[in-house]
Amino acid sequence: MTTWVTASELDRVDHHRRSVEWVAGLWRAEDARLLKLTSGGKFTTNAEGTRLRMTKPFVEFDSQRHRLIGLLDGVPIFAVEALTEGPVHDLREVGGQLPEAELDIAAAATAVAAWHRMEPLCPRCGGPSAVINGGFARHCDACGEDHFPRTDPAVIMAVVDADDRLLLGGHAHWGQRVSVLAGFVEAGESAEQAIHREVAEEVDVTLSELRYFGSQPWPFPRSLMLGYFARATSTEINVDTDELSHADWYTREELSAALEAGDLGLPGPSSIASRLISTWREGRDPFAV
Ligand SMILES: [Zn+2]
Repeated sequence: MTTWVTASELDRVDHHRRSVEWVAGLWRAEDARLLKLTSGGKFTTNAEGTRLRMTKPFVEFDSQRHRLIGLLDGVPIFAVEALTEGPVHDLREVGGQLPEAELDIAAAATAVAAWHRMEPLCPRCGGPSAVINGGFARHCDACGEDHFPRTDPAVIMAVVDADDRLLLGGHAHWGQRVSVLAGFVEAGESAEQAIHREVAEEVDVTLSELRYFGSQPWPFPRSLMLGYFARATSTEINVDTDELSHADWYTREELSAALEAGDLGLPGPSSIASRLISTWREGRDPFAV
């Protein structure tokens, strides 16, 4: 799967979006499309969940509510939080089925909607702030500061031991599902330091080699997942039950057998966790250059 590794087809029009007239002109374009979201960032798709359902804007442009997501093949794409009911989905549910450009649209719309919901006030002075830049910034009239959507880095790591077994863990509320370990990067910490710390905290395993794998936006509400493979130098697991309920090492055969028997489940195909696990299951050496 090649998602999120090549240039996006979505043109985020960063140099133009400061002009509200320019954005409003795009809104009125004959071919403009509008993705409606619920206040929780869900949207509608076709029945199969393979395409976003977008409509033509028909109300007046409102710079405070309507977000210009970008241009796709020259077509202006907007988003608005205006859905209240109906069969809706989020990226976790249908992200693996959408065309890559629509995945980018949904991820951007979800992320920016969450940011406006969480930070309506100026984080510097607490004053009210107004939406600018077609929805991708806010300006505080009280202190004059501009604010931009925030992204929180998180690490997600497929830990393999010297025998090429994969470490998978689960939470009690996940049911049968297990996944690779993950955690947030703390203030003042590198991604690599976070990986060593999280794996030590969660399962008390030490690591040697780390290899960057790829990243994925995960706007729930505003993460960027940084994926790595990590080589373990110890195998004894001591689970921190505040973080996980269980964790274990699996050979490829053991994992396949457990999946087939229905004893285990894996993360959905839209997640970078799934891509990390698939890469390991295919037997490719992630540490080979
Ligand atoms: Zn302010």
